[in-house]
Amino acid sequence: MQVLVLGSGIIGTTTAYYLALQGHQVRVIDRQATAGLETSFANAGQISPGYAAPWAAPGIPFKAIKWMLSKHSPLIVNPKPDWEKMKFITRMFTQCNEKSYTTNKSRMLRLAEYSRLSLQQLNLDTGLDYDNEEKGTLQLFRTRKQVLAAQKDMAILDKFNMPYESLHVNGCIDAEPALARVKHKFIAGLRLPMDQTGDCYKFTDQLVERCRKLGVIFEFNTEIKSLKIENNQIHSVVTETQEYKADKYVVAMGSFSNKLLKTIGINSPVYPVKGYSITVPVINPDASPVSTIMDEIHKVAITRLGDRIRVAGTAELNGHNLELNEKRRATVRHVIADLFPDAANMQQDEFWAGLRPMTPDGTPMVGATDIPNLYLNTGHGTLGWTMSFGSGRLLADIISGNKTDIRYDDLSIHRYKKQKRAIEKPGRLIPVG
Ligand SMILES: Cc1cc2nc3c(=O)[nH]c(=O)nc-3n(C[C@H](O)[C@H](O)[C@H](O)COP(=O)(O)OP(=O)(O)OC[C@H]3O[C@@H](n4cnc5c(N)ncnc54)[C@H](O)[C@@H]3O)c2cc1C
Repeated sequence: MQVLVLGSGIIGTTTAYYLALQGHQVRVIDRQATAGLETSFANAGQISPGYAAPWAAPGIPFKAIKWMLSKHSPLIVNPKPDWEKMKFITRMFTQCNEKSYTTNKSRMLRLAEYSRLSLQQLNLDTGLDYDNEEKGTLQLFRTRKQVLAAQKDMAILDKFNMPYESLHVNGCIDAEPALARVKHKFIAGLRLPMDQTGDCYKFTDQLVERCRKLGVIFEFNTEIKSLKIENNQIHSVVTETQEYKADKYVVAMGSFSNKLLKTIGINSPVYPVKGYSITVPVINPDASPVSTIMDEIHKVAITRLGDRIRVAGTAELNGHNLELNEKRRATVRHVIADLFPDAANMQQDEFWAGLRPMTPDGTPMVGATDIPNLYLNTGHGTLGWTMSFGSGRLLADIISGNKTDIRYDDLSIHRYKKQKRAIEKPGRLIPVG
């Protein structure tokens, strides 16, 4: 079968890999010069199934107001009225209750845990080197309130039999020795020992080569302009230079999937939530983290990636704007200076921003659409790197008609309200806009 994958971020590339492993003829189209150059480029580097949880949690609407008033706020909302943003916030707030949180978290955990197992196999099969480590992740708590709040998460981890360690200060220092220098700044921690870390871009870039060996063709520097529909099926994908046809099509264009989908009557609930990172060279390994540390006050993750440290966080609701805002740089710099003051050369920070493709319920959309030969693999939000391996493998099985390893009926776009069916107009050209 010929399959066309639209987008070669971490999601499109893993999808292509698993499709090719199953013997399909796969072509991937992306507007960038190589894979993984947009949101997958400089994320926090955590592969953290145990941390998979929706942002939409009970109490978030009130917390959001408090956050927005703080100096180094983890949440910024551009006050300019915008229909898409308002719709996303409203939909997300309707999910901020115990019942929805538990449902959404359990879906995310199922996919993330499957992803962990899939990565294990993929690493064995490929031996890729992407500054990967298996040293767990550590959430640091600075207040009693945070410790109490974490007990709910531990109850859910218990429910899913996911191992964790509830640590006092010394336990945190055993896991992350450099924290001894700032031990007065935190009171406890929650460690997820099965979590991993790695550079998502390095991985994606190397996986492209593996894909090529399996026969996948990559069409880079190719902007997707529109979709053509005939007889209620995708007939072809139109790019700047030519039309591409296949038997089946996968949309994996991250935060840009919506624009394409809207033109064929599919209202995807994904909204771009901007995040920032800095990457700095390590100058003092003893003063540096060994894995990922999450600061619960600022919602910032600090990850060791070989001889570099990546510091990433903040959620900015500001459309597809990718401007680099110096105030956000100050926030991420503040967190590393606070916890690992002598670790890195801050004069050489590489500042970056990316758009997380977020669904209101936090769960990605993996699976079929109302158009029989069109599939989605998008909306992975905060944990796309973590869930990519499982999502790619699951979708490849769905497309191939194989028995899948995990349940997926509640992962497709169909869980959102009824989609408008694509209007049947033979040969209709639908501009992306
Ligand atoms: C600050 C930050 C920190 C994060 N930290 C983590 C983390 O620690 N762990 C984790 O699991 N996740 C993390 N994430 C989330 C993760 O990075 C994303 O979920 C993931 O990268 C999304 O991958 P994607 O392939 O869907 O999107 P992308 O990587 O954006 O890929 C989409 C691709 O589609 C292409 N495309 C778009 N439009 C077109 C078009 N018209 N024509 C042709 N090509 C097109 C783009 O060029 C791009 O290559 C973080 C995100 C951010 C922003």
